[in-house]
Amino acid sequence: AAGQAMLEVKNLEAWYGESHILHGVGLEVRPGEVVTLLGRNGAGKTTTLRAIMGLVGRRAGSIRFDGKETVGARSDQIARAGIGYCPEERGIFASLTVTENLMLPPVVRGGGLELDTIYKLFPNLKERANSPGTKLSGGEQQMLAIARILRTGAKLLLLDEPSEGLAPVIVQQIGVTIRELKSRGFTVVLVEQNFRFAQTVADRHYVMEHGRVVAEVANADLAASMDRLHEYLGV
Ligand code: ATP
Repeated sequence: AAGQAMLEVKNLEAWYGESHILHGVGLEVRPGEVVTLLGRNGAGKTTTLRAIMGLVGRRAGSIRFDGKETVGARSDQIARAGIGYCPEERGIFASLTVTENLMLPPVVRGGGLELDTIYKLFPNLKERANSPGTKLSGGEQQMLAIARILRTGAKLLLLDEPSEGLAPVIVQQIGVTIRELKSRGFTVVLVEQNFRFAQTVADRHYVMEHGRVVAEVANADLAASMDRLHEYLGV
């Protein structure tokens, strides 16, 4: 069964300088799954995504992607292997148009979506193709940040709080997009603070606290587990 995992993280430790942030994180993601990392501020969710992407100071333990060890690989090599990261701040270039933002990242791997396909998936972005990044709403910026990693050829998408700061109706649209990506065979790991949103998109959840995974919950069991998880989630 272990051979089925697309991403297999074991005993992951991570440091920023002298700060030891992750203490033996373990998780597995199968191809086509949508999995969330839940937990309070400072639990280590963002650091887990950054560690998978090779963007922390130091890592130890194991992160296997498609069966290959990536602890020790550089972040550009990890991107080339097929992992895309969308940071919480989204990283849209304000002076560039939507199309220019989409064309900016290098295609690191075969099978990236063409611009036409991306515009079919994101009709709102198509309407805004020639608008500069500064003119986009928060929701449009989030869509653009997700769309941009689809062009690179990434198969595993790491999304940091895509719902953050967005109006409920826009959060719903992001949910539709994530489910559409799943139906197209993409695999998604997302950090979330918004449980209701997490419940509408995910197959499974990992709950983090103090740099560790403290619980794993199937989506169907999340509501019933709220009492047990309350102390970790702060809700
Ligand atoms: P949040 O929702 O606030 O981002 P999180 O669960 O994603 O929460 P992390 O951002 O991973 O948490 O932070 C985990 C711990 O690492 C926190 O104690 C934070 O202060 C610390 N930390 C984060 N970034 C750095 C950094 N660049 N240098 C040193 N410590 C950091």
